[in-house]
Amino acid sequence: MKIVYTDNNATTKTADEVIQEMLPYFGELYGNPSSMHTFGDKVAKKLIQARQRVADLINADPEEIIFTSCGTESDNAAIYSAINAFPDKKHIITSNVEHPGINKFYEYLQKNRGYEVTYVPVDEKGLLDLDILDKNMSDNTAVVSLMWANNETGVLFPIEKIAKKVNEKGIVFHTDAVQAAGKIPIDVKKAGVDMLSLSGHKIHAPKGVAALYVKKGFKFSPLLIGGHQEQGRRGGTENTASIIGLGKACELARENLSVMNTNVRELRDYLQTRLLEKIESSSVNGDLDQRLPNTLSIGFDAVEGESILLMLDRDGICASSGSACTSGSLEPSHVLMAMKVPFKSAHGSIRFSLSHYNTKAEMDIIVASLVPVIQQLRDMSPFWKNGKMV
Ligand SMILES: *Cc1c(COP(=O)(O)O)cnc(C)c1O
Repeated sequence: MKIVYTDNNATTKTADEVIQEMLPYFGELYGNPSSMHTFGDKVAKKLIQARQRVADLINADPEEIIFTSCGTESDNAAIYSAINAFPDKKHIITSNVEHPGINKFYEYLQKNRGYEVTYVPVDEKGLLDLDILDKNMSDNTAVVSLMWANNETGVLFPIEKIAKKVNEKGIVFHTDAVQAAGKIPIDVKKAGVDMLSLSGHKIHAPKGVAALYVKKGFKFSPLLIGGHQEQGRRGGTENTASIIGLGKACELARENLSVMNTNVRELRDYLQTRLLEKIESSSVNGDLDQRLPNTLSIGFDAVEGESILLMLDRDGICASSGSACTSGSLEPSHVLMAMKVPFKSAHGSIRFSLSHYNTKAEMDIIVASLVPVIQQLRDMSPFWKNGKMV
C-alpha cells in the first residue's frame, strides 16, 4: 500500500540530495576533521561549507553556529548557558505551549535548582499574551525563551516584536525555531535573538543532528564539556556525515522556501477547506493567519483523535493526534488545553503537517478516507445524536 505521509512536524523524509551528499563521509572520507593530516582536513573543509549553509538559512555568521545532536540538546544547551551567564538571576519566562524538549528542562530547574518559571498563557487562537510577558520581566529574569512556531498548531509567535521587548530589558532571548526553520523566512540579525535552535530531521536532514545559533559576543558555556570541537562550545567528535547532510538540507530549505509558502500552503488550505466543507462540527485549532504554511490542526466534535488515527492508518495515511498522549492517559494535548479548546473537540483533534513532497491527489485521498471515518466513529459515539454533539 502506498503511504500518504502528512506527519512532517514529527519528522521528515531525508531528501535524496541530502543522502547523496552524506554518503562519501560514511565511506571513503572517514577522517577526523580535527586531525593534522590532509585526509582529515578534507572533512574539515566540508564542515566549513555545512556551517556556512546553516548560517545562510537564518542570516547568521558561520562562527555563530554550533552543531548539536538534536533540537532537544540545542534547547537545553541554550537555557543552560543563559542561566550560567547570570548565576544570580533565578527566574525564567516561557509559554505554556512549548515543546517537551524544552519545558521538561524548566520543570527540572524548578524542582531541583530553585528556579521560578513563569508560563505566559496563550489565548484561544494560540496567540501569546504580550502584556503578561511585559509584566513579568524583571531584574531577576535570566532568560526569556519562546518558540517561533508551535509544532501542534503551527501558530507563530511575533518573535521580532518579542525580541525587541526582551532586548530593551537587557534579558537574554532564546527561541525554539525547530518548526519555523525552513518554513518561514528567518533572519536572526533582523529578529534580534540571542540564541535559536533548529533541528535536522524536521527539514529533510537525518535524525540526530541539529544546530544552535549563538549571537557573537554572548558568554556561552557548553553543556557538553570535552574536546575543543565547535570552538570549545560542544565537546565530542563531530557527527560529520550528518552535519554535512544538515548543511545540504538547509541549502535546499532556502531554495524551497517560496514553494513552502505557495504550493504547500495551497495544498494545506485545500485540505482544510475540503474537510470543513464535508465534515460538520469540525473546526481548525489556532490562528488562521499567524500560522505555518504546512500545518493543519483540526478538531472533530464527539470523536477521539486516537481512533481517527488508527482508521486513517489502515488507509496508509500518516497523521498525528493533537495529544502527546502518554500511554494510559486520556488528557488532550497541553497545547490545546492551554488554548482552552473545548474538551470534546480537543479530544477529536488531529494534525496534518505537509511537505513539498505531498500532492493534491494525496489531499483527495485524505478527504475520501476521513469523511466516512468520522461518520463511522460518530455513529458509535455516545456524544453524537441526530447529527449533533450532545
Ligand atoms: C521536534 C521538536 C523539538 C525537538 O527536536 P529533536 O531534534 O527531536 O530533539 C523541539 N522543539 C520543537 C518545536 C520541535 O518540533
